[in-house]
Amino acid sequence: MQVAETNTAVREETARVFFAIWPDAAAQRRLAELAERLETVCDGRKVRAENIHLTLVFLGEVSVDRLDALCQAANEVQGAGVRAFDFAVEEIRYWKHNRIAYAGTVKVSQELLDLVSALQSALSAAGFSFDRQAYVPHITLARKAKCPAPSIEFRTGLPELAQPVVWPVREWVLVKSGQANGRSGYTPIGRWPLV
Ligand code: ATP
Ligand code: MG
Repeated sequence: MQVAETNTAVREETARVFFAIWPDAAAQRRLAELAERLETVCDGRKVRAENIHLTLVFLGEVSVDRLDALCQAANEVQGAGVRAFDFAVEEIRYWKHNRIAYAGTVKVSQELLDLVSALQSALSAAGFSFDRQAYVPHITLARKAKCPAPSIEFRTGLPELAQPVVWPVREWVLVKSGQANGRSGYTPIGRWPLV
């Protein structure tokens, strides 16, 4: 938790939070292997296996007094017709501007878009603000990466997947981001099932 200074000099306790989906154990293993390879190929810093995730909506600093209201808003989404789906990672990609190597999906499933959109609507209705940029699903695998030039081994400069990494998405979570035991990490503070 952080203590934020407001312009009225009132100190407010906040938490850095976001909604996300975590891979199941088998997908986590494969994504962690890819992160390991990217650390070598791109000379980057891999994301640790337990931290690999897909962000749905990032809120940033929220007053701890508002976390119950945030969970209430998320409860509303359950009645909005969201459904379970399979998430498929088909490609490893690279953003030069922030030097992030990530796992991406070629065909974004409608169920994922519906979930994000229902969540955004519920959060807006409850008075929460968040980044409204078009949603681009991505799973960060390595930071401070330098994507190498294409080679015989890597046609795009990045490892290619022989098989997509697919997992059944059966829940989404609210996560607090921050330091724990001296390492940056995430702590789930709410869970919602998808059926
Ligand atoms: P760190 O910033 O400590 O290196 P991190 O980026 O994983 O680690 P956060 O910055 O708390 O931790 O971000 C949590 C999640 O939200 C990550 O998936 C991150 O990509 C995403 N995120 C962070 N900032 C934004 C933003 N402004 N808009 C959209 N997503 C964001
Ligand atoms: Mg960050």
